[in-house]
Amino acid sequence: MTEPNTTVVRGACPHDCPDTCALLTTVENGRAIKVQGNPAHPMTDGVLCTKVSRYTERTYHPERILTPLKRVGPKGTGQFEPVSWAEALDDIAARLKTIAAHDPQAIVPYSYAGTMGLVQGESIAARFFHKLGASLLDRTICASAGAEGLTYTLGGKVGMKVQHFAESQLILIWGSNSIGSNLHFWRIAQEAKRNGARLVCIDPRKSETADKCHEHIALLPGTDAALALAIVHELIVHGWLDQEYIDSYTLGWDALRERALQWPPERAAQVCGVPVEQIVRLARDWGTTVPAAIRLNYGMQRVRGGGNAVRAIACLPALTGAWRHRAGGLLMSSSGHFPVRRAALQRPDLLGDRRPRTLNMSTIGDDLLRETSAEFGPRVEALVVYNSNPVAVAPDSSKVVQGFAREDLFTVVLEHFQTDTADYADYILPATTQIEHWDIHTTYGHTDVLLNRPAIAPVDQARTNTDIFRALAERMGFDDPCFSDTDEQLCRMAIGDDQDFAVLLENGFASLPVPEAPFAQGGFPTPSGKCEFFSQRLADQGLDGLPDHLPNYETSGSDARYPLAMISPPARNFLNSTFVNVKSLRDIESEPLLEIHPQDASERGIADGAVIEVFNDRGRYQCKAHISVRARPGVVNGLGIWWRKLGLNGTNVNELTSQKLTDLGRAPVFYDCLVEVKPA
Ligand code: SF4
Repeated sequence: MTEPNTTVVRGACPHDCPDTCALLTTVENGRAIKVQGNPAHPMTDGVLCTKVSRYTERTYHPERILTPLKRVGPKGTGQFEPVSWAEALDDIAARLKTIAAHDPQAIVPYSYAGTMGLVQGESIAARFFHKLGASLLDRTICASAGAEGLTYTLGGKVGMKVQHFAESQLILIWGSNSIGSNLHFWRIAQEAKRNGARLVCIDPRKSETADKCHEHIALLPGTDAALALAIVHELIVHGWLDQEYIDSYTLGWDALRERALQWPPERAAQVCGVPVEQIVRLARDWGTTVPAAIRLNYGMQRVRGGGNAVRAIACLPALTGAWRHRAGGLLMSSSGHFPVRRAALQRPDLLGDRRPRTLNMSTIGDDLLRETSAEFGPRVEALVVYNSNPVAVAPDSSKVVQGFAREDLFTVVLEHFQTDTADYADYILPATTQIEHWDIHTTYGHTDVLLNRPAIAPVDQARTNTDIFRALAERMGFDDPCFSDTDEQLCRMAIGDDQDFAVLLENGFASLPVPEAPFAQGGFPTPSGKCEFFSQRLADQGLDGLPDHLPNYETSGSDARYPLAMISPPARNFLNSTFVNVKSLRDIESEPLLEIHPQDASERGIADGAVIEVFNDRGRYQCKAHISVRARPGVVNGLGIWWRKLGLNGTNVNELTSQKLTDLGRAPVFYDCLVEVKPA
């Protein structure tokens, strides 16, 4: 008997998660048999979440798409037949050429974070659409409100080094279920807890993380800025300020002071729906504990005032001088620390003098239904979807479905599986998974760059995103040399000379040289170099230069027909809509659930486990009731994001969410949503 040929290949987790783990894939005779965390990578520490530890199950899933497929039935019915790559690519190129001949802006690329890799994300794909002159896409669906809030306050998506939270004495885990979606940070927070730190969870939902913190503040969705302003009020009243830090390294203190004095804890308690004592205690903790730190995450910015809320919270560390300590300050995203060479990767210069319109991915439902107009530009005639599943994840899904169902819309989807979106495709093109291609990853949760090497050859006929767009470029007659760059060359190009590529090849990861306490002496990357409580850049746009509480579009109590506020946090074993079709993970989640407080359930005659209908003016969604104190009174938690076709009535929670946008960043307001619930 011959010995198996076994290798272990270094890689990186591609998913939209702040941990960006380092992977080790064991390959036996050309087949991946195991994916594990790399113990040599300090952040990963050899541990992966349940989802990705089953990555081989996903790669070799019996339902994986392994040949190009062409639609043979009505849109949305999911009827396809296999075709050759040549037939699919020739036809797609011909269709795109015909549309581009009258207006390339009628072609829209639609992509997001199905992979966070810089190469399989936006490299050759972006070059292709730039060369074509297609519409540009405003990629807002997850984080742009918070990103802008941070940028107008701190100057960019920058903050503390995550490992230093281990030395903090107070950690506010704000808008995040770390155990479910930032597992490796949670390990660090636990270390801090063992060292005596107090952990406070601020989240409308009593999550698994809230269970394990010393205190949980279950505020109403969309009231985070009111809470932050009340903390500032208390810091002022009790003199818990680092006046020297404020005077030296901040801008707009007098104006912020005046605004915050309008927010006594009693007022905030009423707005936030929490006891006044909790706010007073939180402010005292923040004002008197050294070092104190905030791990802010994106859940809280998915409301009308999300950008302002991030601004208000991002002011807190400067007021107490928390940034002076390496274990003090705030981390929402570290991605701004990475010197990525996006222009070299994506080549916007290929547009030449053309300035195509930009469509917001969060309003794709409305935009697919718009006619040609001077204001909108041409009706959308073709969509090319990659790294995304908009039919499941975009808000107001009945509109999205209506748009995708247009028989005159030509839709191409690059995918691993026949998702809700792929059901509406004219062509589905089989894409590679992470263990089949090269990529390079930065991250938003730590400060290491990771290289992903292919562990196995592409399965069957699957091709990399880059390869698919290279082949399309060739058929379109795009002969610029940049379409010939290999994936390994693109990986090198993405980070330029700032990182030693040999180190990445050798270890699979490398740390950025980020200062230990980046803002101990100011030096914020804002125009003033200071933490900008007041932003002249916002004032110049006619916006409020100071952070404020902006009530939700759909504020609790504002509509008697829909008395419950709904948020839709991720189910623990899914990552957005990825992994829903991995049976072992779906079995853990069992069925689409809505968590509802016992009091709200009893008022509606709802029994635990009963099939219920959740509804508002936008739609109706069926799922099962889970009566639980994880939901606070007046707020229900619709755990997401199930594939529509795997749900109870062919819908998911986004049937209920709206296409309205946030105050900053033009982002969706998934958690700004009123509903009513009744037994089905
Ligand atoms: S999803 Fe997050 S925790 Fe899980 S393996 Fe990927 S980076 Fe790590």
